[in-house]
Amino acid sequence: MKCLICHDDIDELNIDERVDCPNNHPVHAECLKDWFSHSKNCPLCNEPYPPHVIEKYNEYFLQKKIKEQEESNRERKEHEIEIIASIAQEIEVKKITNDIEKHFFENKIGDALDKIELLTSKYGKKLKFETMFLKGKANYLRGRYDMAINFLFKLVKEQFDYPDAFLFLGKAYEALGLEDKAKWAYERVK
Ligand SMILES: [Zn+2]
Ligand SMILES: [Zn+2]
Repeated sequence: MKCLICHDDIDELNIDERVDCPNNHPVHAECLKDWFSHSKNCPLCNEPYPPHVIEKYNEYFLQKKIKEQEESNRERKEHEIEIIASIAQEIEVKKITNDIEKHFFENKIGDALDKIELLTSKYGKKLKFETMFLKGKANYLRGRYDMAINFLFKLVKEQFDYPDAFLFLGKAYEALGLEDKAKWAYERVK
């Protein structure tokens, strides 16, 4: 005797394994679990299963529903936590970046470099180009033009579309008297 749902054999002696519809079409008790989420009728003759058969599965469906609800609550919570964490990161990045600009403005380049180091250690992977630019700019501002060129040239080689990097690259070349290279860099500030 074969199950109408999975087409595997049914152990006829095991009455817990087998469920019949009112017209005696057999299925596995286990296979009915999935079938009942589509339909409460026999897969062959479409006759409704009697209430006492369906009731046996109510606890199973209740548990299944609770599990699904818990799973979706958990996913929603995780998603909310991710959003909050990413907003907190954005705020922190903005704050550190503002501090760096302020230090640049006040010509406290040492302080700026400390903050750039902090930004690099925490967000260096995500903000690779930004931190390279800031290192280049800081070195330009403290008169280390060779180092500024190192950082900025490496940056524009990877990220061509970075006008500020070309601007400070041009300034650094100019400070070293490398007029041709400065001109090349300035031409790329758009
Ligand atoms: Zn089956
Ligand atoms: Zn049937």
